[in-house]
Amino acid sequence: MGEESTHRKVALVTGANKGIGRGVAEQLAALGMTVVIGARDPLRGEEAAAAVRAAGGDAHAVTLDVTDRATVQEAARQVEERFGRLDVLINNAGITGSGRVSPEDARDQVPSSVDLDMVRAVFDTNVLGVIAVTNAMLPLLRRSPAPRVVNVSSHAASLTLTSDPDGPFAALLPSAAYAPSKTALTALTVQYAKELRKDGILVNAVAPGFVATDSNNHTGFLTAAQGATVVVRLATLGADGPTAGFFGEEGPLPW
Ligand code: NAP
Repeated sequence: MGEESTHRKVALVTGANKGIGRGVAEQLAALGMTVVIGARDPLRGEEAAAAVRAAGGDAHAVTLDVTDRATVQEAARQVEERFGRLDVLINNAGITGSGRVSPEDARDQVPSSVDLDMVRAVFDTNVLGVIAVTNAMLPLLRRSPAPRVVNVSSHAASLTLTSDPDGPFAALLPSAAYAPSKTALTALTVQYAKELRKDGILVNAVAPGFVATDSNNHTGFLTAAQGATVVVRLATLGADGPTAGFFGEEGPLPW
């Protein structure tokens, strides 16, 4: 990582080498934060950090595979060594489990025929990875005067929206992997918020909307920058901001 920065807020974004995470990193940097780009591929992380710096931001790459405990611990060690604290954690890294397909086409996730190894892999990244990263970073977040944690969930996480046969998400195929992993993530968000409320750490889940990224073969109708805005809003909450919430660009979302 590059030069020490003691005055700017420090934000770590997981899976920030592309897609929504990269959009979030770019926007947080534009707001004046020092952004740590978490990427499991160091080269792609460095490329993204260099692009943010070229646009005038302060960005540093760190190798971080959320399913690899050693890289998670090493990332925390590097953030501590360089910055001594963390102000914002964006748990963005995630996989659909179905490769580069849109949720509507994820036929391999239909509950009655789903492959258990795929379910395990999706939960490992989307749920257990968030616990691993959050717990590794919590000692650093506790040193911030205004710590914020944002978990990137999905509208597909909402039991209310997905169980409505006439609702806007009726077209989504039933899923035993991606959607339940994101439901678990919003549940986890509430539990972390419950534990950390007394410490002033605000923890919220967001649904970025259907964003054109590699995860859906760019079939989404929002840009990464548009999907990132709600994430950035929750990352920059004031002291009186919500915690244990679930938000989309349109406002609070039903569980
Ligand atoms: P994306 O372009 O595929 O980006 C996913 C990012 O996560 C990549 O940087 C990827 O790294 C990283 N990643 C995957 N597994 C990882 C791991 N084990 N450790 C560290 N990084 C890992 O997809 P995206 O659409 O931007 O997705 C970002 C988040 O938004 C995900 O949590 C996704 O579920 C959520 N989301 C997306 C949409 C949408 O419409 N796109 C909607 C709702 C929610 P590599 O480049 O190395 O693969």
